[in-house]
Amino acid sequence: MKREDCIFCKIAGGEIPSKTLYEDENFRVILDLSPATRGHALILPKEHAEDLHELSDETAAEVLVLAKKIAAVMVKRLHCDGLNLVQNNGEAAGQTVKHFHVHVIPRYKGDGQNINWVPGSPSQEELESIREAIVE
Ligand code: AMP
Ligand code: ZN
Repeated sequence: MKREDCIFCKIAGGEIPSKTLYEDENFRVILDLSPATRGHALILPKEHAEDLHELSDETAAEVLVLAKKIAAVMVKRLHCDGLNLVQNNGEAAGQTVKHFHVHVIPRYKGDGQNINWVPGSPSQEELESIREAIVE
């Protein structure tokens, strides 16, 4: 289902024009308007899901296959040296548009972008306590 108030529903459905790289029955892939690098693309499912938690299992399974195809095209056509797949869920994680999407970000040697985190240094005890919080 589309959501009337959702900009990515409108883009995915073709109501708002976009720089479309690929489209099929279930997805539209567009260029990001504020790209991190040359070729930064967004994979938009046509069906509205706010985030990963709302995504259907079918779409979840299809989206990584599509990301793989888009990644291969980026390597072939843009000659990027690497790629980041980024998928933000929730404001705390930097999600600004509440319609699930996957960023495909081509990376070039020396591109100056920094899509990384500051590594922590927990003790073995802290790691064990986190493990237990997750699985026990
Ligand atoms: P996120 O922070 O993961 O929610 O990413 C949202 C992304 O959507 C950002 O990289 C924006 O630059 C991009 N964006 C927002 N509006 C548009 C739009 N109308 N067309 C293309 N990209 C957009
Ligand atoms: Zn939507």
